[in-house]
Amino acid sequence: MPELPEVESLRQMLWRSLSGRRFRRVTIRDSRLRRAVSGELAAAVAGRRIERISRRAKYLLLELAGDLVLLVHLGMSGSLTHRRANFAVTEFDSRHDHVEFELDDGSRLVYNDPRRFGLIKAVPRAELSSLSELKSLGPEPLSPQFSPAYLWRATRGRTAPIKNLLMDQRVVAGVGNIYASEILFRAAIRPTRRAGRITRSEAARIVTATEEILRQAIGCGGTTFRSYRDSRGQPGRFASLLRVYNREGKPCVKCAAIIRAVVLGGRSTYYCPRCQR
Ligand SMILES: [Zn+2]
Repeated sequence: MPELPEVESLRQMLWRSLSGRRFRRVTIRDSRLRRAVSGELAAAVAGRRIERISRRAKYLLLELAGDLVLLVHLGMSGSLTHRRANFAVTEFDSRHDHVEFELDDGSRLVYNDPRRFGLIKAVPRAELSSLSELKSLGPEPLSPQFSPAYLWRATRGRTAPIKNLLMDQRVVAGVGNIYASEILFRAAIRPTRRAGRITRSEAARIVTATEEILRQAIGCGGTTFRSYRDSRGQPGRFASLLRVYNREGKPCVKCAAIIRAVVLGGRSTYYCPRCQR
């Protein structure tokens, strides 16, 4: 499942190739996503110039002329690829090309989603802040609002494991399962620790580790385990830098103790029993 670094990498790539381009025509080939693509989307978006591409949590926001925003979420298996004439489509099953945006230079932006958990919709800019998808999101993990003092306060009185809180989108927006394990390994804090028992200095370590891990992952174009692809259809390269995720039974890279796995909130979680307390 794409997490924040994948979506941020995709945002940066898309902006490099789509900056200033205009949508010439939009074709909805298959509206069946978990929430159906509106039949009005094509007419609403066609003819508009892409003025900016931003991101909130795991949502991409294509900001269009006339104060319309195209909101895109990749769900479990979605991809948004920019296809020029030489684009290699071998990895993509065209049966799952849900929406095709033709651009004014003849290239195409294609939303493909085999498992159909994604979301595409056009929203007037004025309605963005009250949108159900966005309104309850916590601060961005790479923003100054996600500070040690903020995290420390947010964990007070909470008995849930710290990892569950890091993955709670109301506490911090966009940290998912893979990176939560990596962040807590770097911060040397056990994922099962009760959030309310985190000290101020531990909160500071988590905030620092979050920034380091996410920036490193963005620099690698994210992590690909199964389906994530960037705008050119390429996988991310962060998987080789993962230090605990998916390494159950293997030696810790720091101390050689055996990495353990535990299920928290229904998600596989990995930690070193010696390095993380
Ligand atoms: Zn260790």
